[in-house]
Amino acid sequence: MASIAFIGLGNMGNPMAANLVKAGHTVLGFDLVTENLETATRNGVTVMASAAAAVKDADVVITMLPAGKHVLSVYADIAAKARKGALLIDSSTIDVESARKAHDIASEHGLLSIDAPVSGGVGGAEAGTLTFMAGGSADAFARASPILEPMAGRVVHCGDGGAGQAAKICNNMILGISMIAVGEAFVLAEKLGLSHQALFDVASTSSGQCWSLTSYCPVPGPVPASPANRDYKPGFAAALMLKDLKLAQEAAQSAGAATPLGAEATQLYTLFNAMGHEGSDFSGIINFLRGKQS
Ligand code: NAD
Repeated sequence: MASIAFIGLGNMGNPMAANLVKAGHTVLGFDLVTENLETATRNGVTVMASAAAAVKDADVVITMLPAGKHVLSVYADIAAKARKGALLIDSSTIDVESARKAHDIASEHGLLSIDAPVSGGVGGAEAGTLTFMAGGSADAFARASPILEPMAGRVVHCGDGGAGQAAKICNNMILGISMIAVGEAFVLAEKLGLSHQALFDVASTSSGQCWSLTSYCPVPGPVPASPANRDYKPGFAAALMLKDLKLAQEAAQSAGAATPLGAEATQLYTLFNAMGHEGSDFSGIINFLRGKQS
């Protein structure tokens, strides 16, 4: 069993750390928010006074932070204080450029590192069924895999440093675009007098089939577990969808990739968020599309 420093014990970090404790690891946690530290203590995490104190004797350091600037500032703080040979795993969703800089900081200090963002949300973090998308060397990935296992349904090695973040934002760009496409189809069906169930029965077994339709249907009824059946409570909040779409746009601009639908999805989610729906599930965009009807 390993000694694991866990930095960033928010909505995702706390349940992830709890699953590491349940698997028998020693987890040394740090966060800036007292309430999150109290939850961590209840989950069996040993709370430390600072990130530096948490990493001092740890074999592995996991970060689960809001954005690239937080990851880079924590890495700058801890890299020189981490144990020789420690492995750094960043599971935050951040921009590819910052992810690569984080790998550089680690390697300058002789530490192994992977970027390993997740999909599956808070539900997946609690159930230990997250999908991890990992970027880094084969050695780093081999060491990280058994550590990730108690938190994971699936772990995919996507390539070198930054490849995990690249996979995450490409996947979530598909998700944002496809949710808008499915929402538009239901709104058109309503205008044409076609029932939600009839469109679902046809499209879910035809060429329009996709996850946004069959697992996360944005109208109540056809998929009972989808957020549409509970007044669009998340799930996956619209604010996080917008964050990921913006990261995809940033990456597309710096890599010179054409992503016109990604750009349009970013605009629509920007408007949806600005109307006060940051905390709604992202599938609630269908109500915004319906509101735009003439
Ligand atoms: P959160 O805001 O609940 O948690 C982030 C935590 O980091 C906070 O508790 C904050 O206090 C802490 N933090 C910030 N700076 C710190 C520092 N310098 N030292 C220690 N702690 C610090 O966010 P979350 O929902 O847990 O998401 C974390 C990451 O996971 C984000 O990058 C997010 O995009 C990604 N993610 C979230 C979800 C989701 O459904 N919530 C799903 C997939 C990926």
